Amino acid sequence: MCGIIAYTGNQNAAPILVAGLHRLEYRGYDSAGIALHSRGKLHVHRAAGKIAQLENKLPAKLSGKSGMGHTRWATHGEATDANAHPHTSQDGSIAIIHNGIIENAGMLRTRLEAEGTIFNSDTDSEVLAHLISKQSADTLIQSVQHVLTLIQGTYGLVVMDANRPGEIIAARNGSPVIIGLGNKEMFVTSDANAILNHTREVVHLDDGELAEINPKGFSIRTLDATEMVRSPITISSEFESQDKGKFPHFMLKEIHEQPEAVERTIKGRLDHRFDTAHLGGLNLSARELLDIRRVKILGCGSAYYAGISGANMIEQLARLPSSAEPAAEFRYRNPLIESDTLYIVVSQSGETFDTLAALREITRKGGRVLGINNVVGSTIAREVDGGIYMHAGAEISVASTKAFSCMLACFMLLALQLGRVRDLSPQQGKELMQAIEQLPSLIEEALTQENDIRSLAAEYCTAKSAFFIGRTNAYPVALEGAQKLKEVSYIHAEAYPASELKHGPLALIDPDTPTVVVLPDDNLLDKSLSSLQEIRARKGPVISITNANDPEIKRLSNAVIKTPRCHPLLFPLVMGVSLQLFAYYCAIAMGRDVDQPRNLAKSVTVE
Ligand code: GLU
Repeated sequence: MCGIIAYTGNQNAAPILVAGLHRLEYRGYDSAGIALHSRGKLHVHRAAGKIAQLENKLPAKLSGKSGMGHTRWATHGEATDANAHPHTSQDGSIAIIHNGIIENAGMLRTRLEAEGTIFNSDTDSEVLAHLISKQSADTLIQSVQHVLTLIQGTYGLVVMDANRPGEIIAARNGSPVIIGLGNKEMFVTSDANAILNHTREVVHLDDGELAEINPKGFSIRTLDATEMVRSPITISSEFESQDKGKFPHFMLKEIHEQPEAVERTIKGRLDHRFDTAHLGGLNLSARELLDIRRVKILGCGSAYYAGISGANMIEQLARLPSSAEPAAEFRYRNPLIESDTLYIVVSQSGETFDTLAALREITRKGGRVLGINNVVGSTIAREVDGGIYMHAGAEISVASTKAFSCMLACFMLLALQLGRVRDLSPQQGKELMQAIEQLPSLIEEALTQENDIRSLAAEYCTAKSAFFIGRTNAYPVALEGAQKLKEVSYIHAEAYPASELKHGPLALIDPDTPTVVVLPDDNLLDKSLSSLQEIRARKGPVISITNANDPEIKRLSNAVIKTPRCHPLLFPLVMGVSLQLFAYYCAIAMGRDVDQPRNLAKSVTVE
C-alpha cells in the first residue's frame, strides 16, 4: 500500500528515488511519481501504472540533489497520471506526497476553489499543497504545522519548497514515516525496506509529529511546537536483502526461507536449564504470567488465522481460555477489557491499521497488550507493553508465507512459557522444546514435496472453486490454505471446519470442486475420514495433506501430499508449507502476478 521515499544530500537524487520506488513496489500501488529540486524549481514527473511506465516518461538527464517519490494506492480519484503524486501548489513552489486520507478535503477544497484556486486532480491530498503555499510563516515547518491543524484524517506527508533547496518537511498521523540517517545525506520513507541499501540508522516519527530535515540532520517537534529528542535505532541486517536470488518470485524464495526464518524465531529463546521458553521482551514476571486468566488474540487476514492456531496452542499447553478475533470486528464492538486478560496483537508489518486501532482501544481501557511483529520499531511494536519479534527477515511477497510460520513459532514459544508457569511439568517442557527445535528440519522435509505439489497444482488449477477443511487445530491451517489460494491464483476457495461440511457446503460438492483436507495424525483422524467418505460419495475430488499412515487415506483421496510426523500442536507449521506451495504453483499454472496480486497490498495502513 502507498509508499514514500525522499532524499536530500550530495548525490543525484533521481536514481535513488526511482530505486526506492522499486523497493516499495511490493506493497501494491497503482501509480507513481517523483519531484526533484533543481535550479530553484520543483520538477514533477508522474505516471499511472507500474514504475516502469514512470521510468519511460522520465527525461534522460535529471538533475537535483533532493527530491521525493511516491507510489499511490488510490483512495480518492482514479489511478490516472493527474491523480498520481507529487501534487503541487498553483505556482509550483510547493510539492507534496501523501499517504492516507484527508477526511475534510471536500470542505477545504470548496473553500479554496471559492478563493480562486484551480485544482489539477481529484485527490484529497492536493488541498495540502495549496494550503501550505498560502501560509506566510517564516519557516516551511511552521507553515506545514499550521495547515495540519486544519486537517482531519491520516497522513504520512512529505513537503518541499522550491525556495528552500535541500530542505524536507515530513509529518505523520496514522501512517508511518521513518527518517534514515546517512553520511551528510538523509532519507525519508514510509517503509524502512526502501532505504536499507543506504542506511540502517533510522528514527521513527510518532503520530502528531513533524520533522525538519536537511543533509546535515533533522529536528522533530509536535503539532503544538514542543521540540522532541529522539535517538536513532539500528535495523538488523536480516532485513537487508531484497533480491530474489535464484528464485523466480519472492513468494517462492520466502517459502524456501522458512527453515532459517523459524530457526531465527526460536534461537536463544529456549531455556534448557528450566525446560521452558524465555521470551525476554514480554516485560512480564512469572508472577504476572501466573495472574493471567484469559488470552485474546487480534489480527487481520493471515495474522488472524495464525492467532486462531496460537489460541489453540495456548489453551492446550497453558489451559487458559484463549480465542482469536479479527482486529477490526473487535475494535468496533465496544469490547469488555479485563485486567487479567492478556491481549496479543499480531501484525507482520506492525502497521496494520485495524490491529493498531484495536491495540489503542485496549490500551485506552487499561488492558495489557503484547505484540507479535516482524518489523523492529514499527508503530505496534512501539506502542505495546511488551512483545515478541518474529525475526522472519524482510517479507516482500504480498502473500505472507514465512511471516505466518514465524507467527506460529512465536505462539508456540509463548504457549510453552505460559504452560511452564502453570501445569506443564519439566519433562513435558523438555519434550516440547525438542519438538520445537526440530521445526526447521521438518519444514525442510516438507519442502522436498515441491515437485509433486507442482504437478498436483497443474492438475487442479482449472477448478473454479475449492474447499479446504480441517478439524480443531487443522481448521486454521485450512483457513490459511484457502486464503493463500485465493490471494495468488484468484481461484475461489472457502475453508470450513470439517465438522461443518454437512451443515452447508456439502451442497456444492461435485466432480469439479476439489476439497483439500488437512489431516493430521491425531485423535480426530477417524472423524475426518468420515468427511472424506461424504465428499467421495458426492464424487468430489479429495486432496489430502497428511502425516498419518492410515491406508484409508490413500483409498479415499485422489491425491495425497505427505508431510513429516511432528508434535500434534506443530503440524500447522509443517502442513502450512505444503499449502503455500500448492497456492504458489496454482498461481504459476494460471500465469498470475504472484508477488503483486491484484487489488492487494502488503501492509494495510488504511481502515
Ligand atoms: N488519499 C490519497 C489519494 O488517493 C493518498 C493515497 C495513498 O495513500 O497512496 O491520492
